[in-house]
Amino acid sequence: DPHNIQQVLRELGVAAENAAYSTGLQWGGAGQNLKTISSPTDGRKIAAVAMATEADYDTVVRTAQEAFKTWRLVPAPKRGEIVRQIGNKLRDYKEPLGKLVSYEMGKILQEGLGEVQEMIDICDFAVGLSRQLHGLTMHSERPAHRMYEQYHPLGIIGIISAFNFPVAVWSWNAMLAAVCGDVSIWKPSEKTPLVAVAVQHIIKDVLTENELPEGIFNVIIGGPEVGAAMAADPRVPLVSATGSTRMGKKVGEVVGARLGRALLELGGNNAIILTQHADLDMAMRAVVFGAVGTAGQRCTTTRRLIIHDSIYEDVKSRLLSIYPKLPIGNPLQEGNLVGPLIDQQAVEGFTKALAAVQAEGGTLLTGGKVLEGADYATGTYVQPALVEAKNEYHTVQEETFAPILYLIKYSGGVDEAIELQNGVKQGLSSSIFTLNMREAEAFLAATGSDCGIANVNIGTSGAEIGGAFGGEKETGGGRESGSDAWKIYMRRQTNTINYSDQLPLAQGIKFDV
Ligand code: NAD
Repeated sequence: DPHNIQQVLRELGVAAENAAYSTGLQWGGAGQNLKTISSPTDGRKIAAVAMATEADYDTVVRTAQEAFKTWRLVPAPKRGEIVRQIGNKLRDYKEPLGKLVSYEMGKILQEGLGEVQEMIDICDFAVGLSRQLHGLTMHSERPAHRMYEQYHPLGIIGIISAFNFPVAVWSWNAMLAAVCGDVSIWKPSEKTPLVAVAVQHIIKDVLTENELPEGIFNVIIGGPEVGAAMAADPRVPLVSATGSTRMGKKVGEVVGARLGRALLELGGNNAIILTQHADLDMAMRAVVFGAVGTAGQRCTTTRRLIIHDSIYEDVKSRLLSIYPKLPIGNPLQEGNLVGPLIDQQAVEGFTKALAAVQAEGGTLLTGGKVLEGADYATGTYVQPALVEAKNEYHTVQEETFAPILYLIKYSGGVDEAIELQNGVKQGLSSSIFTLNMREAEAFLAATGSDCGIANVNIGTSGAEIGGAFGGEKETGGGRESGSDAWKIYMRRQTNTINYSDQLPLAQGIKFDV
């Protein structure tokens, strides 16, 4: 075992379990319907997991319902204290958990560790938040009346997560939900269930040490059908779903039909604008990290580069000197910057998109090959591709979850570049590189970028947890993580108290009986 991964699994407690769900303290549903999980890095089997049945799902929901009755009574700062302990446990397990993220998902080790760091950061954020779940007070129009609002816990939060951020996105949701007094049920991606099992073991220790009831944090292993059950279930007032737009449309429709809440974090088609006033040395680092980091499998990956024609050839030749030298290979090996795609299906998506964009008139400048040979025996390693294209091509309009960067030329002012940037269905992340203040402000104005994230002289990927994360249009409109994203995890109540001996009606209505 070159990476000593079985040792890592033992350290994380994963090897001991073969169960379909966990209600915090107990594991259940063992033995049936086993699915083998193998690493995209070397194709080796890591472990097998049991997939949950409908009965398992029901057990988990009922346990969560019970736990909610207790958890919502725990004062918010005390709930924060539990989250603080979870953050500390994650610090203890950062190395092995980061390694497992890297091995199961295929991102480089530095990014695997970074993902665990993000979990720790959101724990810290949530601890502070646990003392700041503020409502407003308002002046009543009636004498001797007091009016204010408060936020109450909502109930069970269903969390459906994607393979590419297999643990961080869960923690954005679960830690905020926990301080808000909610309980959560996590349905991780069926492509990356082992990291979820590992996280649940870490949580379990904290729950045991604090003698907390079962069901505050639950995990259920399964495919889309489990996510679909959660979307349809009125016992789950909020479903937070991260993944493809195709998935989000289904989940949004089903949750909407029962008038539940959906928090949708879906696909992106993110662009960086390089104007003639860009600092190109700086920009190149952002572009390359954004386009090939995580092998193009981030929702915020840079997919389009909108370049002013006066600097187009310069940018193109800089990229052409960097791309062929990118170190591609085993993500656990130091020095490699590009790991594998998650599976064969993703590789197929990559090669098909490249064929399609060339058929539409695009020019493949470099890359695009599936790597072969002993180090790449899984067939999941690809050479990041650079393609000259037009924004309106069908292929460019879609999110291909792989490292393809489209070079798009513009010749007019910054308005033209912004129009191209906005000219897709998705609206997650966007950025401009310019040292010109008018261009930067135009990009950030109401008539500028239409995305949930708009950056100046920073790339599209690598958001911090302090801000609200999410995007517009087909990205789904959800916001999670920082700022006031916590509000969706609570129900708001407006309270008016009359401390007079009269009963005046609002709007001055007379109603004498
Ligand atoms: P995916 O849509 O295939 O799966 C995501 C999750 O949804 C999985 O857990 C899956 O089991 C579940 N699912 C699938 N169909 C479902 C259905 N009908 N009902 C309920 N659940 C269902 O996505 P993926 O391949 O795992 O992840 C890649 C996608 O996720 C990309 O489009 C990427 O942009 C997006 N993403 C978005 C964000 C964001 O914050 N906006 C973050 C990460 C990933």
